[in-house]
Amino acid sequence: MIAYDPSSSIAEEFINHREILDTIAYVQEHRNDLSLMREILDEARKMNGLSHRQAALLLECNDEDILEEIYRLAHEIKQRIYGNRIVMFAPLYLSNYCINGCTYCPYHKKNTGIRRKKLTQEEIEREVIALQDMGHKRLALETGEDPVHSPIEYVLESIETIYRIRHKNGAIRRVNVNIAATTVENYKKLHDAGIGTYILFQETYHKETYEQLHPTGPKHNYAYHTEAMDRAMEGGIDDVGIGVLFGLYQYRYDFIGLLMHAEHLERRFGVGPHTISIPRIRPADDVDLSEFPEAIVDSLFKKIVALIRICAPYAGIIISTRESEASREEVLKIGVSQISGGSSTSVGGYVEKEAPEENSAQFDTSDKRTLDEIIHWLLKLGYVPSFCTACYREGRTGDRFMKLAKSGQIGNVCQPNSLMTLKEYLLDYASDRTFKLGEAVIEKELEEIRNAKVKEIAQNYISQLEHGNRDFRF
Ligand code: SF4
Ligand code: SF4
Repeated sequence: MIAYDPSSSIAEEFINHREILDTIAYVQEHRNDLSLMREILDEARKMNGLSHRQAALLLECNDEDILEEIYRLAHEIKQRIYGNRIVMFAPLYLSNYCINGCTYCPYHKKNTGIRRKKLTQEEIEREVIALQDMGHKRLALETGEDPVHSPIEYVLESIETIYRIRHKNGAIRRVNVNIAATTVENYKKLHDAGIGTYILFQETYHKETYEQLHPTGPKHNYAYHTEAMDRAMEGGIDDVGIGVLFGLYQYRYDFIGLLMHAEHLERRFGVGPHTISIPRIRPADDVDLSEFPEAIVDSLFKKIVALIRICAPYAGIIISTRESEASREEVLKIGVSQISGGSSTSVGGYVEKEAPEENSAQFDTSDKRTLDEIIHWLLKLGYVPSFCTACYREGRTGDRFMKLAKSGQIGNVCQPNSLMTLKEYLLDYASDRTFKLGEAVIEKELEEIRNAKVKEIAQNYISQLEHGNRDFRF
């Protein structure tokens, strides 16, 4: 039997099947113990997170009062760390050639019903200009795994192209990268290219299911995939983003695995995940939802988001346009801190609108609003949309970032940075109605900056933005 060891570098020791089963058994035994759940919630109030066992127990709870307390606490933790700021980003798909066989993704090798495409550097430039013209500053690069069509050199060249492009007042200031698990050497190269976060979803932590869902290609190797974040950290990338695709396997198993992964990174490297993504399985070309009976419903999704916020208070929680407007509104209140907007999930989709029969999208988006519509909606709901990318540009990554986050000091820079980047958006890209609403929000929020010196500098920078200067940051 393989023993559980959260500080091990071996996948099946830090994501330990026996420990997950024991946790599920522990939950069955204590599922009606409301006083234990209240004790766990008392501990969570200290904002030091919870263990996967404690979290798993809360996940099974259906007591109305406890549930209400979970949502209230998740909201409170989110407000204390993130305030009402929501960071905006967009995905950029470079290529959908893929040698893997993932059964839930239309890019899988055997799908002949999809148009294959890889962007040239000129096409990337056009896509980036289209994204800059919307107002985006932060991208997540996506590409299928294919050593011929998208080797690491292609990814590195594309990152250089993206950072180089300046169009009007536009600039992409942070490129996060979501590419297949790779070697320490390649992670070093990505680090040297100045990426923000390296993102890789585990899909499912259940090894047997993982191997069935990935029948062919390099991704079939569970250990190599699961240990990717360790190699990324060894390669110098200290901001990593983890996630599972809920609906592939039993949600409780993957929820526990996700938290064990976070605990492992914290234990082994002293830094937990910078972000946690929580996509749910969605329909797409050649993907039949009826084959995924574990797909999760909205109420469960909401509970998962709230518990991740409570268990990993300092990790950004990300949702994409897979989620509908209504679902996004619900989870923004209780944990989500980053969302995408105006997204295309097709290769080349920002410039060229595809005919349905030419579909090259990775999944169908639910939230099809433009970025401006989303910004307006967020402002109306009382949030401050932020295009901030300051931390990694100021070297605040890894444990430096975590120390600031845990001491609460990060808010002192997030707050003015969000207002300054929102102001840039309003001046350069917003519709009239968004501009008006945004100006009022900035005025009000500036008054709420408690540190007088910070407030004065922020006001000064904002007035310089009005005079045509750009890119100030704390
Ligand atoms: Fe390829 Fe990624 Fe899709 Fe799998 S999920 S088929 S690796 S693009
Ligand atoms: Fe994120 Fe840092 Fe900007 Fe805050 S200051 S929004 S943590 S990049």
